[in-house]
Amino acid sequence: MRNILLTSIACFVIQTNIMAQKTTDFNYHVDRFADIEVLRYQVPGFEKLSLQQKKYIYYLSQAAVAGRDILFDQNNDYNLEIRKILETMYLNYKGDRTTENFKQFEIYLKQVWFANGIHHHYSTDKFVPKFSKEFFIEASNAAIEEEFLLSNIVKPRFKEPMITKRRFLYEIISIIFDPTIYAKRVNQAIGEDLIRTSANNYYFGVTQKQVEDFYNAKRNPKDKTPISYGLNSQLSEYIVIKNGKYTTDIQEYVWKIGGMYSKEIEQIVFWLEKAKSVAENDKQKEIITLLIDFYTTGDLKTFDDYSIAWVKDTHSHIDFINGFIETYGDPLGIKASWESIVNFKNIEASRRTEIMSANAQWFEDNSPVDKRFKKDTVKGVSAKVITVAMLGGDCYPATPIGINLPNSNWIREMHGSKSVTIDNITDAYDKASQGTGFGEEFMYSQVEIDRRKKYGKLGDDLHTDLHECLGHGSGKLLPGVSQDALKAYGAPIEEARADLFALYYLADPKMVELGLLPDNEAYKAEYYGYIMNGLLTQPIRIELGKDIEQAHMRNRAMVARWVLANKNLFAGASPSETVPAVEMIQQNGKTFVKVNDYEQLRKLFGTLLTEIQRIKSEGDYEAAKKLIETYGIKIDPKLHAEVLERYKKLNLAPYKGFINPVYTPVLNEKGEIIDISIDYSEGYVEQMLRYGKN
Ligand code: ZN
Repeated sequence: MRNILLTSIACFVIQTNIMAQKTTDFNYHVDRFADIEVLRYQVPGFEKLSLQQKKYIYYLSQAAVAGRDILFDQNNDYNLEIRKILETMYLNYKGDRTTENFKQFEIYLKQVWFANGIHHHYSTDKFVPKFSKEFFIEASNAAIEEEFLLSNIVKPRFKEPMITKRRFLYEIISIIFDPTIYAKRVNQAIGEDLIRTSANNYYFGVTQKQVEDFYNAKRNPKDKTPISYGLNSQLSEYIVIKNGKYTTDIQEYVWKIGGMYSKEIEQIVFWLEKAKSVAENDKQKEIITLLIDFYTTGDLKTFDDYSIAWVKDTHSHIDFINGFIETYGDPLGIKASWESIVNFKNIEASRRTEIMSANAQWFEDNSPVDKRFKKDTVKGVSAKVITVAMLGGDCYPATPIGINLPNSNWIREMHGSKSVTIDNITDAYDKASQGTGFGEEFMYSQVEIDRRKKYGKLGDDLHTDLHECLGHGSGKLLPGVSQDALKAYGAPIEEARADLFALYYLADPKMVELGLLPDNEAYKAEYYGYIMNGLLTQPIRIELGKDIEQAHMRNRAMVARWVLANKNLFAGASPSETVPAVEMIQQNGKTFVKVNDYEQLRKLFGTLLTEIQRIKSEGDYEAAKKLIETYGIKIDPKLHAEVLERYKKLNLAPYKGFINPVYTPVLNEKGEIIDISIDYSEGYVEQMLRYGKN
């Protein structure tokens, strides 16, 4: 599971002179197009690592970018071809590069790079190109050679190269320009065939029913250590001859050496082998060996062994994720996208998560949830703050700020989980978004703005830490309740559980007692930011008329609106004394969120946490559905239009992501590596073209 920057709280931080001074040293801003801003991050502490550690990071970072094409292909069957065609056109275009058509083409290509495909990374809607079809036909015809197609356009499942240039370009044109083809990468509209209507490439030719039947037949409800069936494969329909007749059957194409994505996986393994040779310790060697074994065999039991070894390694300074991990791209949550992150521990900043971990049992015991749903012993909550050195696959360029793995429930219960907060990314967000005017526009008064200025980053960081290292790890399912009992509502409910756990405890005196917050006022900054985001500002990321789709956003809308709907629950005995916890206020024709009583707000968070944990523990599908459908999906169109209008005037990008630094081995005369240099000067287009070429 991962945590992404959605509360956008870093945006509220107001510029101060000291901060401005610091920002001038390093240029965080790289590129701005469509609804995207591309930033770069620093890797503080890299230079101080030993040569062996630097080499280890270097090899792991090569492995982290080697799987990029896998993700493109997973996101849609045509993504790789489209990207290659667009890149070739971009490089070979001989015409006027200042025309509106060319500019729009360039924006489109940048969007495709950013999203790892033709669908928006976040909404998963297909991009609408703003250049003309005629321009595309002319430019692609001029730029693309027949030989290019023959050598580049080979589908893994096709033995022959794809058809002719004309025919193929025609196909590509329909996919790019026809809004009805592959309209959405991940469709979660209940009642529709989620597999048939989703444009991802995890399934080919099969229906939702076929997929469910296929995997239900494999699962044994009594199995206490079930493997993650289907995690690393495409499920495809294929034609067979049975009794002399053509008919269809379905089978899994496993992602492994010798299977689907073999070429990319061989590259990943090549770099992992090199990394293994310079690992810091035997534990890391064991982890890499298991991972290579998994990539070689595709055996999911080996993947579990790897995950267990990985989760137990809490002492290495350098750590990494590399594999098929998160299932957000599959509406059924079965197939995992490829991703990688290479990182090392930020010892100073890890102090706060170590305090949380050391007190994990106290947090579990004192939460307001029903005793039946609590863990008797909270195992292995390992949490640290890390510095990212490389991002790859589904973590690039859109980047999580926190990660909690592994995802397998039984491994989490029996062996614990590792939780990280990525400090150099949140720091870059924070620095890059100073002085944007966001807080002034949307916050109710100067009190909230000042509080944000004083406690903002700290509150955000602690929320992420609590969410990742305690929230997801807390509570238990009742015996016999399946991990998937809540189906499509499972993800937003799980995120709500982790958020509410964090929110409930942020206001606890224990936080001050443990030295995590400076005073009893600080949590209010995060409370206000959270509730304002959920009630007012998060739809800045959604087009007018559309619903909320993404699990974290559904969770945050649900929590905030449930609170608003129940604002009087703790509001005093008689109607005359009633002061609701939260209100929506009109002022000068604008809508604001006003928090009247933070203690009531905390009680509301606690009450909802209790209910959400019950839903999760009992697998109460109907209750989960009711909460999410009532509060988590629809947006009031009038308020949505107002917020978009106000946001537009600020001219900010609602989505941000990061490019990587460039690591280069420094060689001596004998050709031995004597250092690894780090450079931050590469641009967005340069990096994307370089990754595309390699
Ligand atoms: Zn989460």
